[in-house]
Amino acid sequence: MATNHYTEVPYNNTLAISSMLTVIDNECNSKIEELHTLDDMNEMRKETTKARKLRTMKLKAALEQKGLHTHLVDGVYIPFNPNWKQVAINLSGGADSACLTFLLADIIQKNNYKCTIDVITHSRVYKARPWAGPISVKVYQALKDLYPTIVRNRITNFIPPELEHGAIGNVVKNRSADQICVDSFNLFIQHENGYDAIFNATTKNPSMDIPTEDRMRNRDLAILDIGLADVAMNKETFWRCLPLKIVEKNWIVKQYIDHNKLDLFKITRSCEGDGNGVGILTGLDYKWFKNNKDKVIPECGMCFWCAERKWAMKENNIEL
Ligand SMILES: [Zn+2]
Repeated sequence: MATNHYTEVPYNNTLAISSMLTVIDNECNSKIEELHTLDDMNEMRKETTKARKLRTMKLKAALEQKGLHTHLVDGVYIPFNPNWKQVAINLSGGADSACLTFLLADIIQKNNYKCTIDVITHSRVYKARPWAGPISVKVYQALKDLYPTIVRNRITNFIPPELEHGAIGNVVKNRSADQICVDSFNLFIQHENGYDAIFNATTKNPSMDIPTEDRMRNRDLAILDIGLADVAMNKETFWRCLPLKIVEKNWIVKQYIDHNKLDLFKITRSCEGDGNGVGILTGLDYKWFKNNKDKVIPECGMCFWCAERKWAMKENNIEL
């Protein structure tokens, strides 16, 4: 039987981890600066890559020492403590958060961890995008069907449309009221339910104009460069994990293909076009939706998220 050497770390002990990771980062950065003085360019590149790899390994070791095991999924480290009992994830109904949910459920299942996942859905702009709520329920249900013992509750938080950034802009120090509602609810529900970690599936903006090869090289460099502290932040009573910060949408679509989950991908919706805008969705507001709940809602094809999804699918040579 495999022994589990990860021990539960009391939360107050984990506070030191940020400074520990900073020390490792600084050490590596000075080493890389020193390498800049090398005359031989090839030698410099080789040694720099070596130094970066060493940093990733050291950061990984430091996290593991604090109970966070990192799971490598297609070049991306996903932090997870084998002793966690329950985690939560912000699930919107889009492809990114559904992807991270099944990746986490897979990690839990394959390693036989005794941990459940609750999903938190922040209900937004129901008047202009009334289908968003029902889609997030469908995505949750599909995930629950795939992992019935791991995916547990769906918790909803309501964001008043009147407080959205689009309606009133920022309210305090570069923060919008909807952002505050989202962050604050996450803290509240973590406190209520005692989650060990809250995951967020924010990804990197797509570098759609950059040739594929350069982009892949950039990603590999980003993986070596990223302070793992950025993807797993210690928040005194829980961990806030954003492991997908270094990947773009094409990586997300690839996971659906590699994990044989394209059926789930098809349920997700990334489009943020709404009934208030111009184009194919004009007029499809909550009053219209009331009597048209079974209708297929087309994607607007004009928003950033539509363009990103189309690009990511093309990158993976798929059409749905
Ligand atoms: Zn769209």
